[in-house]
Amino acid sequence: MRFSAQSLTDIARDILTAADVSEPRAQQVAERLVTANLCGHDSHGIGMVPKYVEGLQSGGLIPKSDAQIVQDHGQALLVDGARGFGQIVAEQAMNWAIERAKTNKLHLMSLRNSFHIGRIGDWAEMAAEAGLISIHYVNVISENALVAPFGGSAARFSTNPYCTGIPAGPNQPMFLLDVATSQIAHGKARVAYLSGNETPQGALIDAKGNLTQDPAVLFEEPKGALTAFGEHKGFGLAMLGDLLGGALGGGMAAGADRTEEGAIINNMSVILIDPNIFGGADAFFEEMRRYLGWVKSSPAAPGRDAVLIPGDPERLARSDRGENGIEVDDGTLAQLQETAQLVGLDHSLKDASL
Ligand code: NAD
Repeated sequence: MRFSAQSLTDIARDILTAADVSEPRAQQVAERLVTANLCGHDSHGIGMVPKYVEGLQSGGLIPKSDAQIVQDHGQALLVDGARGFGQIVAEQAMNWAIERAKTNKLHLMSLRNSFHIGRIGDWAEMAAEAGLISIHYVNVISENALVAPFGGSAARFSTNPYCTGIPAGPNQPMFLLDVATSQIAHGKARVAYLSGNETPQGALIDAKGNLTQDPAVLFEEPKGALTAFGEHKGFGLAMLGDLLGGALGGGMAAGADRTEEGAIINNMSVILIDPNIFGGADAFFEEMRRYLGWVKSSPAAPGRDAVLIPGDPERLARSDRGENGIEVDDGTLAQLQETAQLVGLDHSLKDASL
């Protein structure tokens, strides 16, 4: 079923409001979730609402929390998210970091102990809108590890995303690399599981460590695991998420004894760089545009339309989904309906479809 971005935002906001979140906060969270859907990342869109409600009900998510500055060293800021909505505390922390990066040209901000911060590209886009390059190391601490180390057969850490955003100058499309370090995001396996589809080859192992395409291994006992992308390379990058995103700011790395029930904790360290740090922003933007054009000029491989640069797929999805609506699979819709009922909303969500 297809929904407009506006209807999905209204649905997410109404469910969260009914779960006792103040309306302005619910609206802010809903808009960010639906932005992930608009960008083509349904794994981090409205389908997360049931998890958020679970977090609210278990106390793992504290809806009124604001970000708090723990240490301020001018060029480095340590912020605690107090298990608040990531969409709120990460925005507060990014605003502080951006302000300082504009003054100092280089800034390190570490946000710890936030509830799920969603699509990391949101935060890179926020930095790029302020004219800044941003590098994001992120880890995820939840009740269960999800991703097996390269060479291992049991999960030890999570999908620790890595993201770098680079603005290309006024009115130019930015470079945005925003990836889970698992071969596929956990939410993508969830979408496959709920819609009865297989996952891509190489993305999952079963409880014995054998490759499988059945997403049920993540949701039913005995549990298997996601694999890191690119074998030992993605594995190493995932570990950087835990070390630099988690441990550096005191948010801890995977496997630490943190057992807040229902909590999906994200820790994120962000390095912000003013492209004019060496006084050559214009030359940098010019070289970047030349380079991106050069890369894109490679003729398309068989079965492909053209070379895309990181950030293009999200731009294409935004324009398509903004115009034609967002497809929500039956499994995700059923979960949302169940969650709506749980918080006392009786109407059929299907009525809001296009
Ligand atoms: P993905 O596999 O779709 O990769 C997305 C990235 O690859 C983007 O930068 C995109 O522009 C680029 N890309 C995709 N296709 C391309 C192509 N054909 N040519 C060039 N570039 C291309 O995404 P993913 O790894 O499944 O991650 C999805 C989202 O999940 C991300 O937004 C990530 O931040 C988010 N995530 C969040 C958490 C969390 O804890 N908050 C954890 C994991 C992932």
